[in-house]
Amino acid sequence: MIHEILPVGPLQCNCSVVGDETSREAIVIDPGDDIDQVVGLLRKHDLTVKQIVITHAHIDHVGGAMKLRQLTGAPILLNQNDNALLKMLDVQAAWLGMATPGKVEIDHSLADGDSVTTGTLSASVLHTPGHTEGSICLYFAPEKKLIAGDTLFAGSIGRTDLPGGSYKKIISSLHQQVLALPDDTVVVPGHGPLTTIGEERQSNPFLQK
Ligand SMILES: [Zn+2]
Repeated sequence: MIHEILPVGPLQCNCSVVGDETSREAIVIDPGDDIDQVVGLLRKHDLTVKQIVITHAHIDHVGGAMKLRQLTGAPILLNQNDNALLKMLDVQAAWLGMATPGKVEIDHSLADGDSVTTGTLSASVLHTPGHTEGSICLYFAPEKKLIAGDTLFAGSIGRTDLPGGSYKKIISSLHQQVLALPDDTVVVPGHGPLTTIGEERQSNPFLQK
């Protein structure tokens, strides 16, 4: 599996380009900004984007999705419970003092238990509400890799004080869905350094019982 992680935009959202070495097909996750650089990575590996997956509808994760769709023709996938947030991108841009990305359209909703497949790559969708109602994580089981969005960070968890956030729900999602994964699963958070499920299970202060 080809996997490049590119921190994009002023909030340095971790955008992932995940590619299949055989078919040269790819999934781009959270293209929040800096689409020229994302496209550069795709060219570098000779990859064609088949899906654009958004872990949740915050502007730093979804802001560049339409531009990437226009350039590649790939559909945008997001859990439908974040539709309300998606309609608030102008408000989100104002909070952060950023330019509005305009209207973002979703091609398909991703639900818990769905699979996202491209070439020989396959990820299962975990619906993990709490940071937002529609937050999802993508789990690549064969590669033991979790793209966690803003649900889990190294040593921390996603904030729950924004519209649609719920501390009770994120803690439940983390215990029921995320900590159910094996300890040697590599976690790619929505921001900051990588970690593992085992490391977070052991030392993340928000996950201690
Ligand atoms: Zn977020």
